[in-house]
Amino acid sequence: MSCLRNAVSFVCLAAVLLSGIDASRAAAAELLRVTDDFEGGSAQVLELDQAGRSVSFMPGGDPRRGWPCWWCMRVAGLTPGETLTLRLRGSTATVGNAKPLAASWAMPDRATFSIDGETWLHTEPGKRQDGGIVYTLQPQAESVVVAWGPPYTPATAEKFVRDMAQKSPHATARLLCRSREDRPVPMLSIREGELPASERFGVWVQARQHAWESGSSWVAQGFGEWLLSDAAEAAWLRRHAEIYLVPVMDIDNTATGNGGKNAVPHDHNRDWSPQPHWNEIIAAQKQVNALIDEGRMDIFLDLHNPAPGDPTFFFVAPDEQLKEPAIRLRNQFTDLACDRIAQIRPSTPVSNKQRSTGPSYHPLWRQISANWVAMRGNPQTVSVCLETSWNNPTSTTAGYRAIGASLAGAVQTFLQERPATP
Ligand SMILES: [Zn+2]
Repeated sequence: MSCLRNAVSFVCLAAVLLSGIDASRAAAAELLRVTDDFEGGSAQVLELDQAGRSVSFMPGGDPRRGWPCWWCMRVAGLTPGETLTLRLRGSTATVGNAKPLAASWAMPDRATFSIDGETWLHTEPGKRQDGGIVYTLQPQAESVVVAWGPPYTPATAEKFVRDMAQKSPHATARLLCRSREDRPVPMLSIREGELPASERFGVWVQARQHAWESGSSWVAQGFGEWLLSDAAEAAWLRRHAEIYLVPVMDIDNTATGNGGKNAVPHDHNRDWSPQPHWNEIIAAQKQVNALIDEGRMDIFLDLHNPAPGDPTFFFVAPDEQLKEPAIRLRNQFTDLACDRIAQIRPSTPVSNKQRSTGPSYHPLWRQISANWVAMRGNPQTVSVCLETSWNNPTSTTAGYRAIGASLAGAVQTFLQERPATP
């Protein structure tokens, strides 16, 4: 008994001492402040525990503007090196009578953070508890931006397109269009040499039809960086193809920190209909249709991030909707791309088992971009959606860009090896 009493007394004394330390530390420290009023910001703070240096929060997106799973916020008032605790829950926001989105979409094993807005790092794996997850980090700065994954905002896209055009005489910064909310949608076009357009392969690469899937924009950027690199294969592709690259399609939801997926009336990747709702789709369809009319819609790549537990894989149009040689060529391309991605070190999970976006996948399956292009494309058109895994240690800016580079390398090898009459 006495032992236990002594033990209890010791625990009580320790608790008093610790709370005293906590109180004096909190008194000495600045108050934590959380903001999300910047491009791509999104968070709803539930509780700020100043003494415990902890922020409880959930994603802040409007569910009418897509799945509320993206989050990104700045926490300021830190003492450099102190431990900051982030307690994340799934969003409870809903549209009508729908159930809230499963929390897992918002909860990577590791959160992403940056103290300078350029270098994005992973936290240690969070601890899952009571349906939420708790991340801790010790930023060496007075403020830190924390996010679901490495952000890629409209400003990032503009800078990327501008930098590439400045760096290379073969790249041109363009606008795809202006969005419904009047934001410019940057795109890059790339070609080298004098080969006439009619003799060039047409390659279209777009990311981020779903705004929360920030990793897909980094994949697009890696594709463009490889293409403008000194590699002989990249030069071959520039000389034999005309490549269009759009790093962010749903620019409005990306700018406002909304999820985009399943937005009202439907999202960008359910909008490839005869009367599209979104300006980006109207503009993209026009350019893709021109390539189809010229018989050179060779490669169409739509870049996404999948469900939390998925590896990197391809979604494809149902075989019943296609004719040969399109199925054979598509399979050759996806096998080649998966092989290349499997060679990346450190290794990243990839599966060459395609999944179909057919009638059982979604009622609006005909209006999914890669299906739309595959079903109306040329006989040789390869039109696929790459879902890049986002919940593992390689889900970083470097990891995503490596996948983009591998994908671009696969496009080059595939086109160079493809017979003239496929
Ligand atoms: Zn998506």
